[in-house]
Amino acid sequence: MKIELKNPVNLGRHEAVCKICTHAQREEIERDFINWKSPASITKQYGLRNRASVYRHAHALGLFPKRQRNVRAALEKIIEKAGEVEVSATAVVSAVSAYARINAAGQWVERSERIDLNELFNRISSLELEEYARDGKLPDWFTSVTGAAIKDDRAKDSENG
Ligand SMILES: [Zn+2]
Repeated sequence: MKIELKNPVNLGRHEAVCKICTHAQREEIERDFINWKSPASITKQYGLRNRASVYRHAHALGLFPKRQRNVRAALEKIIEKAGEVEVSATAVVSAVSAYARINAAGQWVERSERIDLNELFNRISSLELEEYARDGKLPDWFTSVTGAAIKDDRAKDSENG
């Protein structure tokens, strides 16, 4: 049980070097991150040095689990965008079906900036799906990005009669 990561980063030390911790718009930055705004755009919009600082801050402050539980926000964005830009029909259908499944399936993408849904879904190869069906083992890349957050979903979904 090494799932619970208890702030592996020394927070005080992080704060001393972090431009986001002292940023006037820190709350907005964090909210954007949790709402799946891409770290690249966050970096640009708030005048940060690079995406790495966004990731570091997110790690230090435990924003990843929050964002992962918020996968629906990411999918909503894609679905909404279908009205504005040309998204392939497959991508939209995939997003909608993922949206419908996401609580049960857990969390996706850490690398969601510039999501290419086709690519994303293609990443789960049929072999991997077979393996999952056989021994319930998700692909390593999948579990490595989803991290520890999956177990939390239960608490939230208590709608059994
Ligand atoms: Zn910080």
